[in-house]
Amino acid sequence: MTVRLRAHHLLCMLTYQGKGYSPAFIAGVDAIATRIGEGEEISLVQGPDDICSPLLPDSDPHCLRESAQSRDELSRSDLSALLGVCLETGSSIRIDPAMLETMRAAFSSGLTRRACQGCEWRELCDSIAQDDFRPVVLATVKAAQT
Ligand code: SF4
Repeated sequence: MTVRLRAHHLLCMLTYQGKGYSPAFIAGVDAIATRIGEGEEISLVQGPDDICSPLLPDSDPHCLRESAQSRDELSRSDLSALLGVCLETGSSIRIDPAMLETMRAAFSSGLTRRACQGCEWRELCDSIAQDDFRPVVLATVKAAQT
């Protein structure tokens, strides 16, 4: 199995605390975070992904807005530079413990936060990062199997 994620949700997963739009939505995102933590491969997609697709029936779903696409582009660029990989649509990535630490450090320092500009949850995500990412659902990830 593969988790389908749009690029800016790689950032959002770092600070996700198990809160969201509805119990069903939370259960879905919890399951995705668990799969990522277990080392499941992530496939980069454009537009609605496994996290936001369930919200498509909403009126004016934010995952279809231009701002979400812009966040994807900024995240794709910043995370590609940070991780030294090419995160294009269709790319695959598996988050290992070292990568999680690198992504958290960059998030805390602001290096990868261009995508967060104007986001209504920015202050919350700032405080979670300042609190050393406690408590988040993606608390740890498994090391890659050799
Ligand atoms: S501030 Fe918004 S875009 Fe940035 S990680 Fe938090 S929820 Fe995601």
